[in-house]
Amino acid sequence: MTLADVAIYATLAAAAAALGPLLATVRGPDEPLIGLANALAAGVMLGLAYPMMRDGLDADAISATLGAGAGVIVLFLLHVWFELDGPEAMPPMRALFRASVHAVPEGLTLGVACAMDPRFGLLVAFTLALHNVGEGIALTPHLGRGEKPARAAAAAALSNAPQVALAVAGFVLAEAYPTLRPLLLGGGCRIARLSLAGRLAPRRIPGAGRTAISVVVIAATGMVAFAEAAG
Ligand SMILES: [Zn+2]
Repeated sequence: MTLADVAIYATLAAAAAALGPLLATVRGPDEPLIGLANALAAGVMLGLAYPMMRDGLDADAISATLGAGAGVIVLFLLHVWFELDGPEAMPPMRALFRASVHAVPEGLTLGVACAMDPRFGLLVAFTLALHNVGEGIALTPHLGRGEKPARAAAAAALSNAPQVALAVAGFVLAEAYPTLRPLLLGGGCRIARLSLAGRLAPRRIPGAGRTAISVVVIAATGMVAFAEAAG
């Protein structure tokens, strides 16, 4: 896989977030949809966490664990510092900033996965695209009620710009220094923890029933795990 391929996959995955506000507009402001979108975003990340954790730990358990620990700490500090876990009603710019911070480890994961194995890289890109659609839907209420759908779609896609930058950087680093791969993979892998801690918190799943949320998480997790096993 070339650097240009990585950039194209990452851009397509980031742009998928634009579908979120468009879908949310078609459906109208619908709380269960937001809950299910969060469940989809968390479920696919959980499905991806398994192969990432396995590959990272197999290659170098200590580096992968250090990477994961560092990743959790950095993201936790960013959330506290910028008050990203504030009340549900968040100003649009802060919501977009939170989405951008969140996109950093995801991009890193994509870049490292592409360096490890092109097929795994494609799976990660596709999973991220799905995840981004879910996040785009969940982001929509924060962008303001009267916002034009096209502008909201552009904002959602652009908030994922760090994904593209980090995918390219992660790919270059992982190609140049293969020994860094487990550390980088661990650093990206905390997305699973955050998906669960943040996305499935009760305040993030308004309106949708517990059963519906469980079904979506399990289906999304299973789908990615199956794609990985079949690939
Ligand atoms: Zn995300």
